[in-house]
Amino acid sequence: MKNVPEIFGSKVFNDEVMRERLPKDVYRALHKTIDEGEHLQMDLANVLAEAMKNWATENGATHFTHWFQPMTGVTAEKHDSFISPEPGGKVMMEFSGKELVKGEPDASSFPSGGLRATFEARGYTAWDPTSYAFIKDECLFIPTAFCSYSGEALDKKTPLLRSMQALSEQAIRVLRLFGNKDAKRVITTVGPEQEYFLVDMEVYKKRPDLIYTGRTLFGSRPPRGQELDDHYFGRIKPRVKEFMADLDEELWKLGIYAKTEHNEVAPAQHELAPVFSTTNIATDHNQLTMELLKTVANRHGMACLLHEKPFAGVNGSGKHNNWSISTDTGVNLLEPGATPSQNAQFLLFLVAVIKAVDEYQGLLRMSVASAGNDHRLGANEAPPAIMSVFIGEELEDVLKSIEEGTDYHDKEKKLMSIGATVLPHIPKDKTDRNRTSPFAFTGNKFEFRSVGSEDSIAGCNIVLNTIVAEVLSEYADILEKADNFDDALSKLIKDEVTAHKRILFNGNGYGEEWVEEAARRGLLNLRSTPEALAQFTEKKNMEVFIKNGVYTETEILARQEILYENYYKTINIEAQTLSMMARRNIMGAALQFEKRLADTVIAKKSASSSVSTETEEKQLERMSNLVSELSKRLEKLSSDMAKEDDMDDVVELAKYHRETIEASMHSVREVVDEMETIVPLDIWPYPTYGQILYSVR
Ligand code: ADP
Ligand code: MG
Repeated sequence: MKNVPEIFGSKVFNDEVMRERLPKDVYRALHKTIDEGEHLQMDLANVLAEAMKNWATENGATHFTHWFQPMTGVTAEKHDSFISPEPGGKVMMEFSGKELVKGEPDASSFPSGGLRATFEARGYTAWDPTSYAFIKDECLFIPTAFCSYSGEALDKKTPLLRSMQALSEQAIRVLRLFGNKDAKRVITTVGPEQEYFLVDMEVYKKRPDLIYTGRTLFGSRPPRGQELDDHYFGRIKPRVKEFMADLDEELWKLGIYAKTEHNEVAPAQHELAPVFSTTNIATDHNQLTMELLKTVANRHGMACLLHEKPFAGVNGSGKHNNWSISTDTGVNLLEPGATPSQNAQFLLFLVAVIKAVDEYQGLLRMSVASAGNDHRLGANEAPPAIMSVFIGEELEDVLKSIEEGTDYHDKEKKLMSIGATVLPHIPKDKTDRNRTSPFAFTGNKFEFRSVGSEDSIAGCNIVLNTIVAEVLSEYADILEKADNFDDALSKLIKDEVTAHKRILFNGNGYGEEWVEEAARRGLLNLRSTPEALAQFTEKKNMEVFIKNGVYTETEILARQEILYENYYKTINIEAQTLSMMARRNIMGAALQFEKRLADTVIAKKSASSSVSTETEEKQLERMSNLVSELSKRLEKLSSDMAKEDDMDDVVELAKYHRETIEASMHSVREVVDEMETIVPLDIWPYPTYGQILYSVR
């Protein structure tokens, strides 16, 4: 039996370790830095660094690294050893406060969207004291933010921290109006549920498309997919179970609250959910989780697929971003309260989120846009590309009676008058959850379900925090000026419900009717990444970031460019991989099968003149047609790809890849998938969907 409490956080320089190892004054100063963002004096930083190094080396670390999250989608690290030369050919282990606080990685090859060209060539990393340092692979990892010398953010952490700050400031203003004097800060909390696939390593290695692009670029559907729904929450296979146990242990050592592990809808698909934490830490932890999913899977002879759509026709993977707002004193502001005045406060925060989603639906959609996620959102799979909010029948009734100024009757038919001081007692999450909604209220938090499985959760939380901060600031502006707070509050809630009810939708988000209904309501339906990315630079959207100090205009332009680039480069790699696989091995297999058929015809004919070769000839004709069709379509793909050379505008390139290259790839795939259904397995060069999806036994 594992001693989990002992394992948990054993590789983390957490508060307990700090209290134990730091002189009291340093510990207190550090807390001021963590809690209140105060600058840490260099002499104290030196003491802290020394304590960190001692702890790290006692725990087997030889190196340290500034760990950061550039715009590549993965984390970055450069390891430096602690050694420092000593007389007599000896070394000492050293680590200074300066090394802890600031680093200068060679940043020239990280994407900057032109920022570095216009500004300063180098970037630096700055220690983020709000996320604990930890040991992994004999190295002390120090979470850091990554900026250019002129102060532009080059990473995902910096804007995330800024957005948390913005939300905190505005939420505190609102809380003060409700008479809350204790809360010093308001934080957003996140629990991301992570979906993934596990396939056997031997099978994985035989699919260059999985290796280069993370998804299969062809493959006809297996006879047994997820139709039977027997995988969801089903018995976990022993091999997967062992993997999960090992993974949990690795995550626990790093202080990650891995809590729930279960099978998902598709065969070979699983999910991991942690207990929620502060958004910044949840983001760091989700990055580590994704990385460890891969390394631990390898250790167990499996490959972990994090792509949003590894298999066409099979359920894809997402990340459910459970998000809430809470005070530093531990009060969840999205928790319906027990008293009328708590409920008034709850309703105001609820309405703020509803308004934020309505006003900035384009930004939210933008925050989850990627080439991989396009195969889910707005394709034939959930959640839809249209943003809407589900709050459950009961809460919707409450909002409706507020809007209409009528009395609200709860389920027991008890009459409750509506007004700021006597709002109804709101029962917790009694409604059925609507699984088709992209943004659902689930009792005391919102669950944003459109996030891609491979994406960092920083993106969507930066947007969520910023847009809610903006709405709260508008509310605070109005309420601070009011002569009668209760009246102003009642009126505000009522007006806002009326103004933003179009975003509320409790029906089936997958239906065609919703697409039409949403259009009537004037909601955006951005089906592809290029359309979604254009939202970033809409005037209103840029303003909300700039006003709340989350991004500068330059940063927005740079980021948008990186996202466009990332999008078309991803599709470009896919097109090249598909082309290579189809030209070489698939064409080769097809020709081999043709030869086999032709040989059979000749052999049969020479053996007897009376025997029929009709079936073989028909099959040969079919193959021959497919081969020439494949050849034609591959030529088209090549010539389409060649045309990119004349384009240099990222928007044009992104659109071209969406409209032309994807269509061309799709038409190649059609032929390949048909071939796969007739070419015998001994000739077919790649594992089939069935062989991949059922490879882990
Ligand atoms: P499910 O949605 O599958 O029913 P839960 O409601 O228990 O599961 O929680 C799902 C995720 O939501 C978990 O990661 C959990 O930690 C997280 N969560 C719960 N409460 C909050 C909160 N206040 N803020 C953010 N995330 C939360
Ligand atoms: Mg969930």
